[in-house]
Parts: sequence; structure tokens; C-alpha cells
Amino acid sequence: MSLTDTAQPTGQLEPRKAALREYFGPAGFERWKIIYGDGPVSFIRRTVREGHAAVVGQAMEWIGPQSALRVLDAGCGPGVVSLQLARQGHTVKGYDLSEQMVEAARQSLTQEPVEVRERVEFNCSDLETLADQAKFDLAICLDVLIYYPEEELTRMLSRLKTLSPDRLIFTYAPASLLLRGMHWLGKKFPRRQRATRLEIIGEKAVKRALAANGWHLARQRHFNKGFYHVVLAEAVA
Ligand code: SAH
Repeated sequence: MSLTDTAQPTGQLEPRKAALREYFGPAGFERWKIIYGDGPVSFIRRTVREGHAAVVGQAMEWIGPQSALRVLDAGCGPGVVSLQLARQGHTVKGYDLSEQMVEAARQSLTQEPVEVRERVEFNCSDLETLADQAKFDLAICLDVLIYYPEEELTRMLSRLKTLSPDRLIFTYAPASLLLRGMHWLGKKFPRRQRATRLEIIGEKAVKRALAANGWHLARQRHFNKGFYHVVLAEAVA
């Protein structure tokens, strides 16, 4: 796979995306690097790390190493998922809104053996305006869509559907009472100190957004670990 794609200009970002880019970029990058790393962490961050690892493990099991797939890692962050997929023999293109995340992902890739390095590339782009012409067998989008309300989710799914028409594995935030409570509590803190910008939209809204784009939910599994509550879901055409 070529490494010649240039970073996509994202132009004027709408406020939510600008805030997310900041949250995963200059302002919050260190926090996320710690959570997705393997050094010591606080109790709360550890639950997020462990919950996320369990989700990634389940997704890897669903995908399996049986045949080599062309995978789009949509919102790849520091590249954890992309690298695991590439080690299993899949070819992966990872895209992220945050330049710091893309840089970190490229950095981790340098530590991999050459056959893994050749199967992966990382670029910076907003998913909604992703200009990749390739077709993928699978789009994987873990802990990204959880930051968007239904309308934006629907638009992002539309772009993903064009790129990967048959299969999407993603997470969403379940509308559980507990999570709503924690979210409410989170809003009591000043904006700068908030640990999360989650959009809790629940299964009904997710199903509507999928249906609007010609997908349906094929399977899903809830993950609850301390402060980490997500549903891992697979949609097919
Ligand atoms: N999927 C990775 C990273 C999750 S963190 C993993 O599970 O390990 C969420 C990432 O989504 C962040 O890096 C953030 O920058 C990215 N993101 C959020 N909105 C995005 C968008 N519209 N386009 C591209 N990336 C986005």
C-alpha cells in the first residue's frame, strides 16, 4: 500500500468537530495517550483502558484473521486498532481528525515489523468529508460516533456507507439510567474539567441512523466497566 496520500485539509470545522479536535489534540492528547498506553493510570482511567481493550478484543474476534480484509479505521486515534488488524494480516487505512493522534499512530507504526508497516497508512481527515476513493470490506469506528448526536451520526454513517458498503463495526453510548446519571453529574463540572463529551443517543436513534443509510444491526454486545459503558455493534447492508 502506498504511503503517498497527503493529509486532507479539513477546512472550516463546525464547532463540535473543532472542540473534538482540541479534546483529542492539543488539550487532551496527553490524557488519551496515557489511557491508550500501558503505563500506570488512575482507577477511573484504568476502567476506561480495560473496557476499551475488551471492546477491541471482541471486535477482533468478530473480524477474525480468516481472510485478509481491506479495513477503514475511521477515527483511528493512536492506531491501536489498526495495528492489531494489520498484525492479523488485514490491510488498514486509518483516518483521524486530530493531527497529534495521526502523528502518534505513525510513530507506533515505526515499531512494527516491515510486513505490518506495509499494510497500514495513517492520514488526517474529518470522516464526514473523507476523500478516499478506495472501497473497503469493513469500516471499524470504535469510540468515535459516541461523540455525535443523531443528525451528525446519520451524516457520518452516510460517508462510511459509501466507503464500506457491506460492513461496519462501531460503538455507541447506551441510554442507560446509570450513564445518564453520570453524564448529568459530569455536566455539573466546568466545561474545561469535563472528562467526557459523550452523546448518549441509545439504540433507537442508532437504528434510525443506520436504516437511513441502508444498514441494519446484525449483532451487538454491551460493555460496562466502571466509567466505561458502550455498546459494540455490527451493521450490515
Ligand atoms: N478508534 C480509536 C480511537 C478512539 S478515540 C480506538 O478505539 O482506539 C476517538 C477518536 O476519534 C479521536 O482520536 C478523535 O480525534 C477521532 N474523531 C472524532 N471525530 C472525528 C471525525 N469527525 N473524523 C475523524 N476522526 C474523528
